[in-house]
Amino acid sequence: MNEVRAGCCVVGGGPAGMMAAMLFARAGVRTVLLEKHADFLRDFRGDTIHPSTLEVMDELGLLESFLLRPHQEVTTLAGNLGDTPITVADFTHLPTRCKFVAFMPQWEFLNFLAEEAKRFPAFDLRTRARAEDLLWENGRIAGVRAATPDGPLEVRAGLTLGADGRDSIVRRLAKLDVIELGAPMDVLWLRLTKRDDDPHETFGYVRDGRIMALIDRGAYWQCAYVISKGTLDELHCRGLDEFRRQISAIVPFLADRVGEIASWDDAKLLTVRVNRLRRWYAPGLLCIGDAAHAMSPIGGVGINLAVQDAIAAANMLAAQALRGDVNARDLRAVQRRREPAARLTQSLQLFIQSRIIGKVLSSGRAPLLHRIPALVRWLPFLPRIPGRLVGLGLRPEHVLNLSVR
Ligand SMILES: Cc1cc2nc3c(=O)[nH]c(=O)nc-3n(C[C@H](O)[C@H](O)[C@H](O)COP(=O)(O)OP(=O)(O)OC[C@H]3O[C@@H](n4cnc5c(N)ncnc54)[C@H](O)[C@@H]3O)c2cc1C
Repeated sequence: MNEVRAGCCVVGGGPAGMMAAMLFARAGVRTVLLEKHADFLRDFRGDTIHPSTLEVMDELGLLESFLLRPHQEVTTLAGNLGDTPITVADFTHLPTRCKFVAFMPQWEFLNFLAEEAKRFPAFDLRTRARAEDLLWENGRIAGVRAATPDGPLEVRAGLTLGADGRDSIVRRLAKLDVIELGAPMDVLWLRLTKRDDDPHETFGYVRDGRIMALIDRGAYWQCAYVISKGTLDELHCRGLDEFRRQISAIVPFLADRVGEIASWDDAKLLTVRVNRLRRWYAPGLLCIGDAAHAMSPIGGVGINLAVQDAIAAANMLAAQALRGDVNARDLRAVQRRREPAARLTQSLQLFIQSRIIGKVLSSGRAPLLHRIPALVRWLPFLPRIPGRLVGLGLRPEHVLNLSVR
């Protein structure tokens, strides 16, 4: 059995865990980050780096080098409601240096953070290390036992961060209570070739009770086809030809390439789940990101909330972790700071899920949605409100300790 001692043990190298590990290590806390995969090259898991996160990259002096990585800069999110174009969110008036969302493959973002973090001697990334159990000492979580290719590894730490996503084993082992909030939809993800003469600016399409979103990933479109929860079998029964026909009907310019969907294996199901922990912490442990609050894909805000949690955790706990003295009051303070933003964002997502998405999928029409074009004609500044909610979030965090130890 290998054993290492650290000030902080982070489980999960997603946006929350990677950002947290980098910031704790930057503050001089010896930090071990356990990631079960060998690298960050995984399936599509969201691409959106929001202006609030870009602001933090700027504060850390990393923005210029970060923006050298392949990305697209999107200043407005637009949609097509039938044949009517609508602007859903406008980021151009945000009080931030970057007035756009950077669409960047998540592995680029994570690789970038990992490379930057490796410059801090206190940062210790262990890939192919799967957390399997919690270590307990005197009624307190004192680290994690992980399986690695070299055998079991025990990481003993004064603070453990559960950043292992919506299927978090850490929160399960710590017996933290999950409140399920529900979602009326699931999402099928697929790729279709992008051509030079395709329209670029449109993101969401709603037509005849069907919804699709398209994310520009350079050579191809990452497509999200929204279905009513639990109806995948029905879709399969209707057959692949009918699925291809539906996609062509919603987004007509894709009709010439829907044949690229060769089998149902090309359309991967994301089961949408919205939930949050009643208590994000236990003695010695704090959950952040999706492990604390799994978000609906609406607004594409999961990555940014995860990053904001990580910044708050580092701001509020690094000094105590350095002293080896993190107590329950400190952990509760992080939940108190971050929970209102997560709860309010989930409430907005639930409202949109039930008042718009659920209604479009069940009856083909959501009165609220169909009023938007007229409202925007009347009040052209309206898209700035979702622009602010999505781009900045409800409680943007800033890195407080900018000096590196
Ligand atoms: C298909 C899809 C599309 C999405 N689109 C968007 C989008 O456009 N914009 C957006 O903001 N959000 C999007 N999301 C949500 C977003 O991916 C999450 O909200 C965000 O990644 C949460 O970050 P996290 O670090 O908390 O968790 P995760 O990103 O889930 O990271 C958890 C990490 O923990 C690791 N891990 C898990 N268990 C263990 C273990 N036992 N031991 C060690 N490591 C472990 C995992 O391998 C993973 O790297 C999408 C999600 C999916 C699935």
